[in-house]
Amino acid sequence: MSKQRLEGKVAIVTGGASGIGAEAVRVFVENGAFVVVADVQDELGHLLASSIGLLEKVSYCHCDIRDEKQVEETVAFAVEKYGSLDIMFSNAGIAGSISNILDLDLNDFDNAMAVNLRGAAACIKHAARVMVARRTRGSIICTASVAASVGIGAAAGVSYTASKHGLIGLVRSACGELGGYGIRVNSVSPYVVATPLVCRALDVEASEVESAGGVGTSLQGIVLKPIHVAQAALFLASDESAYISGHDLTVDGGFLAVNRGIE
Ligand code: NAD
Repeated sequence: MSKQRLEGKVAIVTGGASGIGAEAVRVFVENGAFVVVADVQDELGHLLASSIGLLEKVSYCHCDIRDEKQVEETVAFAVEKYGSLDIMFSNAGIAGSISNILDLDLNDFDNAMAVNLRGAAACIKHAARVMVARRTRGSIICTASVAASVGIGAAAGVSYTASKHGLIGLVRSACGELGGYGIRVNSVSPYVVATPLVCRALDVEASEVESAGGVGTSLQGIVLKPIHVAQAALFLASDESAYISGHDLTVDGGFLAVNRGIE
């Protein structure tokens, strides 16, 4: 059935307790997957797992992706609990403090890199090691951003923008190496979605983000929601994208096409 696009597959969703990750957890489970929610927000993560109502299909695991050992243990937990690992949705990220290069605090820069780039590298590494060892033709997906392709300056800040540009390099490099094992590596790149990350960074309410109406995008009359990004991740996780690897799937209402002109 087309509804069960991930039937029997096992997925880890980092940053799965909130925003885009939480929506992906719901969509993956609805489509037949077993999901490990990996996050540092334990209360929220447990709440999400229990609210989905299919407790045997969703588990929460504390995992700070800055700590490689915790990432390795989370991957081992998924394999132990559900018998394999087919999908790593490396989605956790932080906005950090939005700063220009002239005012850059390099500690903020290090923090953004530690989560958005180094953390994602740990997730790709340990998911891939298990997939290679078990000969699983898996799918690894990272959440990048429109800020991974263009410098959107004050809107995203130099640290975030640099970390997400780096993430695209990581995805391309891993795609080249892991293709030989049948493992696909892709990214999704959302435009601005009203999640806690954005609302905290910009110090605004979700309604204000949404009523801004996708400034700079070409697509009007629709508000970008976490579900739109989760659906893109679902496509990349499923066998429908079996020959797609090294791709950055933008979910941006045409933002990059208009602002960069080469999408
Ligand atoms: P969110 O704040 O709702 O979710 C991010 C989650 O990541 C949180 O649950 C948080 O606890 C978790 N997290 C943060 N640091 C972590 C760590 N060290 N280890 C494990 N988990 C950690 O925000 P979101 O918007 O859903 O963000 C998800 C991803 O989407 C991020 O990578 C973000 O950069 C990216 N993104 C967001 C937007 C947007 O506009 N919201 C746009 C482009 C890209």
